[in-house]
Amino acid sequence: MRRVALVTGGSRGIGRATSIALARDGFDVAVVYAGNDEAACKTVGELESLGATARSYRCDVADGDEATACVRQVLADFGSVWALVNNAGVTRDGLLARMSDEDFDAVLSVNLKGAFHMTRALCRTLMRQRGGRIVNVSSVVGVMGNAGQANYAASKAGLIGLTKSVARELAGRGVTCNAVAPGFVRTDMTAKLPDAVRERYEGQIPLGHLCEPEDVAEAIAFLASDAAAYVTGAVLPVDGGMGM
Ligand code: NAP
Repeated sequence: MRRVALVTGGSRGIGRATSIALARDGFDVAVVYAGNDEAACKTVGELESLGATARSYRCDVADGDEATACVRQVLADFGSVWALVNNAGVTRDGLLARMSDEDFDAVLSVNLKGAFHMTRALCRTLMRQRGGRIVNVSSVVGVMGNAGQANYAASKAGLIGLTKSVARELAGRGVTCNAVAPGFVRTDMTAKLPDAVRERYEGQIPLGHLCEPEDVAEAIAFLASDAAAYVTGAVLPVDGGMGM
């Protein structure tokens, strides 16, 4: 029987590539997205063409009630969930001295609290079935920090603490929780950066080129697989060596 994966931010970028990798690995996929219906619909079509059952769910993961209702609906539609990928994320970059409370809170609410909401809503199901996988999408800047991204780096560092705590809480039930820490990935999120900034990042990457969404998706697919059964509480860098 096919297992089910729930991927937040599963419609575009890293989440889309992850949904595709998981479908290839035999998962049916619940794609959670914020508002871009067209992208979600397109990704669901791609997943179906790979033979997976797929459905999209419009849900703001920053809203606890919406996240809980979304998980309930996914469980009602699919019957179970084996893997949760907390990938939904946003940026609101700016220097700390000029950063508003709103920009700080908005980023923390989606990137960190969103993962908390989804994990809390699903954890009893995973514990009851005595098995499952949680993969959180952190970032190299959650480990290294980054000028102009105090809110984003704090959210991604917070995800690492969340990952290790959840890993410890759920280990006794056979549920693993890990994080990936991507470097600079070619997606819509980074497309808006000026060329000069992109080139500066590229110069800091030992492997010498930007990360593709598929590079991160493969790492997530590994952590969601049976092959990673003995890996928990880990933070796997996928950054071309940038963070070492
Ligand atoms: P992206 O291309 O901008 O896609 C973001 C995805 O998240 C979309 O599916 C979007 O839905 C969804 N989303 C945004 N806010 C949401 C919310 N409140 N509730 C539910 N879904 C929401 O982003 P990406 O570059 O693939 O990044 C994916 C993850 O990787 C993020 O957590 C990001 O921080 C992390 N990351 C990215 C990089 C990078 O260089 N790109 C590096 C390290 C880590 P809609 O399509 O409906 O808007």
